[in-house]
Amino acid sequence: MSASTARPRRVLFLGSAAQAKVLEEQFAFLLAHYEQALATHGSSCSNGKLGELCPSCLRFMELRDTLMEPFRVAPAEWKNRKAMAA
Ligand SMILES: [Zn+2]
Repeated sequence: MSASTARPRRVLFLGSAAQAKVLEEQFAFLLAHYEQALATHGSSCSNGKLGELCPSCLRFMELRDTLMEPFRVAPAEWKNRKAMAA
């Protein structure tokens, strides 16, 4: 192959994915796993060990609790809010 017919060498670079996108995909994976566990076992899966969650179910619950933290309301405060709204 002569130099004139050779295809130019292409250099490809792979950029890293945005962190938010990685987290979103990770959460989607864990949610899908948890939903599958619910459909199969009726609860999170135990990985065969009594009282122990599988790592994916455990991680999903940790993330869920962290994400829901800003919306958590103490029962007493909830009663006050309902009373004020009425
Ligand atoms: Zn699981």
